[in-house]
Amino acid sequence: MTDSLVAALRAVVGDAQVLTDADVLVTYENDWLNKYHGTARCVVRPGTVEETAAVVRACADAGAAIVPQGGNTGLVGGSVPRGGEVVLSTKRLTRLDPVDLSAMQVTVGAGVTIEALQRHARAAGVDFAVDWGARATATVGGAVSTNAGGSRVVRFGTMRAQVVGVQAVLADGSIVEQMHGLPKETAGPYLPAMFVGSEGTLGVVTAVRLKVVPWYRHTAAALVACESVADAVAMLPTLRSLSSLDAVELLMPEAVKVACDHLGIGTPLPVDFAGAFVMVDCAANDDPSQDLARLIGDRRGVMAIGPQRDQLYRIRDHITIAIGAKGTPVKLDVAVPVQRLAELLDEVHDLIAGIDGGELIVFGHLAEGNVHVNVLGAIDCAAEVTEFVLSTAIALGGTISAEHGIGIAKAHWLGRLKGDPTVAALRAVKHALDPQGIFNPGVLFPE
Ligand SMILES: Cc1cc2nc3c(=O)[nH]c(=O)nc-3n(C[C@H](O)[C@H](O)[C@H](O)COP(=O)(O)OP(=O)(O)OC[C@H]3O[C@@H](n4cnc5c(N)ncnc54)[C@H](O)[C@@H]3O)c2cc1C
Repeated sequence: MTDSLVAALRAVVGDAQVLTDADVLVTYENDWLNKYHGTARCVVRPGTVEETAAVVRACADAGAAIVPQGGNTGLVGGSVPRGGEVVLSTKRLTRLDPVDLSAMQVTVGAGVTIEALQRHARAAGVDFAVDWGARATATVGGAVSTNAGGSRVVRFGTMRAQVVGVQAVLADGSIVEQMHGLPKETAGPYLPAMFVGSEGTLGVVTAVRLKVVPWYRHTAAALVACESVADAVAMLPTLRSLSSLDAVELLMPEAVKVACDHLGIGTPLPVDFAGAFVMVDCAANDDPSQDLARLIGDRRGVMAIGPQRDQLYRIRDHITIAIGAKGTPVKLDVAVPVQRLAELLDEVHDLIAGIDGGELIVFGHLAEGNVHVNVLGAIDCAAEVTEFVLSTAIALGGTISAEHGIGIAKAHWLGRLKGDPTVAALRAVKHALDPQGIFNPGVLFPE
């Protein structure tokens, strides 16, 4: 039987850009963790904003739900279908306008990867600030929609701080945009902000205007052994005094080990004597290694410049991948006020110690009190682990999602975090813009 919606979508984007073969759909139907799955009615890949608008209109006319998908590296189940939705892939929205060096801004398509954007910016002598391990696959549209963070937030902030314009398609197929990037304008609520962190529930982001930042060519990193998480936190005031400070990562010993084992290399420092490691990265117009070395003082650590720095980053970037290769973890992304981080991790450690076969692997972004809590061997008690970690984070004044988003995974937690009046206000915005509820049903708000 011919699907009339598929036929309508083919009329918009051409036959080749509407995918229906089960073998091809499979990569769009499974998430990066191989944890969230669902069948797609089809995958459609518009190449322009006008095509995107026509695709959304066709789906709305047919009452078909849409899951916007970028690089599909999301970790909370929001980028894959739950059952029968149309997956709208942004991968062909790859516009890359010239960098505007007088405004220090650039306009790019939602489907451009973070790595391609960084390359584009560097070719113009500047840089794009937000960076993390999935840069080769994650897209600008996905990063805006999840308010991605990564390792350089201590210096430049999250995606929210980079976005100065958004173009998006709403549920009725209308195109809204505020792309002039003016640093000063007070003309009503700021439309671009609405899409940051909206996780594909309000519309499809088709293009974004972003800030670019100076490209610091001199870099130096260090891996420093600390007695404990509290000791690592105690380094922060001194580290923050470095004007070249670019990243401060917390790597628990087991995280360093799992990544090095996966890469088949030795650990840069022996892991058994340290309570925690801090990876510090500095970048400047002049060599920052002397400042960094002075700051480390007589602490045990290794300085890394050039290829050795790249190797430290390789280890850092492979932690998530190495954990995934060992098994399916219970994975939680939480943040607490940094002074309470040690307390959070002590409580989590005690819980996991009581789980037979449970293996705790923690790493994260120290300056923001943001840790990724991964527990292998705990799938059978995933609900209990999740309940404990998230409720402890809230009790300590923190959040249940620092950078990965809410997705499907934590939708029923949103009310506990934000309170009923706030969730009601957010639902009202969603309903006003998407009365049929066609965008990403089940994400952010439980169905
Ligand atoms: C190895 C690894 C390391 C990671 N490290 C980090 C990290 O350090 N920091 C961090 O923040 N994240 C990290 N992530 C998570 C992930 O890369 C980010 O959430 C990223 O922003 C997702 O981008 P994406 O293009 O893959 O989006 P997807 O996974 O395709 O989608 C994510 C969400 O955004 C929506 N969406 C995507 N594109 C659009 C669009 N154009 N319009 C509207 N909605 C859209 C989807 O519907 C979904 O809800 C990591 C992931 C992996 C696999």
